[in-house]
Amino acid sequence: MTAMVETDVSTGVQPDEAQAPRRPSLSPSRAADFKTCPLLYRFRTIDRLPERKSLAAVRGTLVHSVLERLYDLPAAQRTVAGALELLEPAWAELREEPGVAELFEAAQGEGAESDVNAPESLQAWLASAGALVERYFTLEDPRRIEPEGREELVEVTLPDGLLLRGYVDRLDVARNGALRVVDYKTGSMPREAFESKALFQMKFYALVLWRTRGVVAAQLKLIYLGDGDALTYAPDEAELLRFERTLLAIWAAIERAVSTGDFRPNKTRLCGWCDHQAVCPEFGGTPPPFPTEAAAAAGWPTLPVVERD
Ligand code: SF4
Repeated sequence: MTAMVETDVSTGVQPDEAQAPRRPSLSPSRAADFKTCPLLYRFRTIDRLPERKSLAAVRGTLVHSVLERLYDLPAAQRTVAGALELLEPAWAELREEPGVAELFEAAQGEGAESDVNAPESLQAWLASAGALVERYFTLEDPRRIEPEGREELVEVTLPDGLLLRGYVDRLDVARNGALRVVDYKTGSMPREAFESKALFQMKFYALVLWRTRGVVAAQLKLIYLGDGDALTYAPDEAELLRFERTLLAIWAAIERAVSTGDFRPNKTRLCGWCDHQAVCPEFGGTPPPFPTEAAAAAGWPTLPVVERD
């Protein structure tokens, strides 16, 4: 396995980022946020502070959309040419989403001074997305795959009431019932030391599927389109049980933080990608008051007492 980039910052925006759950819940990305930095979790999940889109993330969304649509085509038409034809209509839809067209215009206006990844033109940017789509075909033959689900919401409520939810890029079910969970990444394969971090999301899905279907996924597959590599893993029941305990511990820590309003910042090199440095104590900022009303409206049962003037 090759190792080029340890952190994938260019995955597509998952639907669970955009759709508010019915009540407080845990998704793989939000659990990862809390593990990375509790204050980041608060800003994203409870304050819901706005974040900038990035060209890399939008490209990830575009590539995910094309790969999802690819499986709408009859098997024989799932060719490189067929997939590349899906780019334009997928982009036409995506550019209508709030902030997307503006993002591209801003990158063009400011150029490489503000964004080293700023493409020279929309055509160049679309071509880079096309290259990722094309690379997909070096890893799988979509004519031989009939997914059971794409962008599929999986969720389960654990016995203690914790709601786990997330969206699986692709779910394959073999004739013998074996499950394969597939996730596309537009970055490159992480170094070995970061593999377990990458698999966190996949084990999350495997746990939900096990709890809802009673089947342990035979394979978890992360497809890295950046360098044309793939990471596969076969979990077992004992591991998923341990993972469930890990999630319960993370959730207990989140509930404690919500009940006290104490979300500690955790300064790491990932702060470089954080949009909230201006309100982060690690960077001289002051977080806004804890949004008690918004948190109560979102269904958090225990909230910190906020003193009012
Ligand atoms: S800048 Fe770093 S420490 Fe501060 S909220 Fe963001 S991730 Fe956390």
